[in-house]
Amino acid sequence: MRKGCIYLVGAGPGDPGLITVRAAELLAGADVVVYDYLASPRLLKHARADAELIYVGKQAARHAMSQDQINQLLVAKARGGAAVVRLKGGDPYVFGRGGEEALAAVEAGVPFEEVPGVTSGIAAPAYAGIPVTHRLMAGNVGLVTGHETPDKEASDLDYEALARWKGTLVFYMGVANVESICRQLMEHGLDAATPAAIVRWGTTVQQQVVTATVATLAQVARDANLMPPALIVVGQVVRLRERLNWFERRALHGRRIVVTRSREHASGLTDALTELGAEVIEMPTIRIAPPQDDAPLRAAAANPGAFDWIVFTSVNAVDGFFNALAAGGLDSRALAPCRLCVIGPVTAERLAGYGLRADAQPPTFAGSEVTGAMAAADDLRGKKILCPRSDIAPRDLIDALTAAGACVTEVIAYRTEPDCRGAEQVLELLQEGQVGWITFTSSSTVKNFFDAVSPDAVRSAAVRLASIGPMTTRTLAGLGLAPAAEANVHTIDGLIACILDHERAGGSC
Ligand code: SAH
Repeated sequence: MRKGCIYLVGAGPGDPGLITVRAAELLAGADVVVYDYLASPRLLKHARADAELIYVGKQAARHAMSQDQINQLLVAKARGGAAVVRLKGGDPYVFGRGGEEALAAVEAGVPFEEVPGVTSGIAAPAYAGIPVTHRLMAGNVGLVTGHETPDKEASDLDYEALARWKGTLVFYMGVANVESICRQLMEHGLDAATPAAIVRWGTTVQQQVVTATVATLAQVARDANLMPPALIVVGQVVRLRERLNWFERRALHGRRIVVTRSREHASGLTDALTELGAEVIEMPTIRIAPPQDDAPLRAAAANPGAFDWIVFTSVNAVDGFFNALAAGGLDSRALAPCRLCVIGPVTAERLAGYGLRADAQPPTFAGSEVTGAMAAADDLRGKKILCPRSDIAPRDLIDALTAAGACVTEVIAYRTEPDCRGAEQVLELLQEGQVGWITFTSSSTVKNFFDAVSPDAVRSAAVRLASIGPMTTRTLAGLGLAPAAEANVHTIDGLIACILDHERAGGSC
């Protein structure tokens, strides 16, 4: 990316999957990201951890910035030498004031580039089951501002032309004016029976759609209390929604589901639920931190060849150890004299990333399995074994190796700390009744979750709990909680199936 350049980037209409490849690349490289409220916050995960993120959206009333201030900010950041991404909802040049920001860059002599985005006026109707053109129904589509008051004397909109349009009309920013927009169209001759729709928060899990006719749309919108951001769609294509509405028909559409992150599942559960239409909130309950005193780890990593074996029990142990190795100026070659043992395929894969293959790979942490797998490769009596581990790892592995006659050195390679940041958001959503399900994939996810959130907060909220099996259910029962659904098959797929069964049966909390 060019330093000192402003990139005007379309964020797409809301679904984080609808960002362009180019936009994601630029976000990943930006020094500064200036974003507003229509750009999904979930897109910011593409940004670098050390990028400066500046919110200039209209929703934060106290922090609202005028367009002039935004222009000045962009220019100042670029002049300061930063690669600046200005992330805007939809397409920057479709009612996004992107044109004004581009002109401000040109006037200041600052280089800029523009990255088009998927505009909400086409994407939101599409997710509502409304194709904006159709060979037999609409040969043209007009993107129209609904922001100005149509009654004002010098309206820029030619309602006579719009009423004769004979295609699809999409009004942006018009939901507050829906009544006068429809009235003007009818007064200028548009058939009052013309189908019309409003799509709110299109392409997101909050998508809400109403359909009516031009004559009745205002009343229907009032009844549904529809607020911005929303689009008004007018034309025969609205009739297709009945048959083409794929998005809202997904089994978990609109459900907000909390997933407590754990070792047992990486992102499989989140991906599967998202694919079914749910909005997943992953709640991390622990974070990985370096050891408080890293002297023992550094000492061990300074001379790994002194050990006959190194046992890696987790991905974090591998990373912690190799970071210490690199800090001491060494690399994987220093491990040449050692035999290596890893637990589980994911840890093995991480070790392979450092160019190393394990000599023993037991499937679980169980002490007897580990010693068994190692003993098959080597006589352990009198052998020096290094175990870089977490600060809270259970002792039984060390005991089993010692019992097998080995001389074990245990060093702390990383710490696991409680992480409460996700809990605050979840608590707020629970209080607002905004969470449909909380999933538990093991007893430890129950423990981690309720270390951060009180069982009372869950008991008093209209939320359902899903448990992967009887052990997990028992742990919940210990807290006085009963799951609404328990998996018959105790896997991630089984857990999802039991949620779907419950939903299909129309079960409530
Ligand atoms: N540049 C944006 C539009 C910005 S103007 C784009 O190309 O989409 C803001 C208006 O866009 C809102 O008032 C609303 O009419 C519309 N809009 C943006 N995102 C929307 C969404 N997800 N669902 C419905 N309307 C949306």
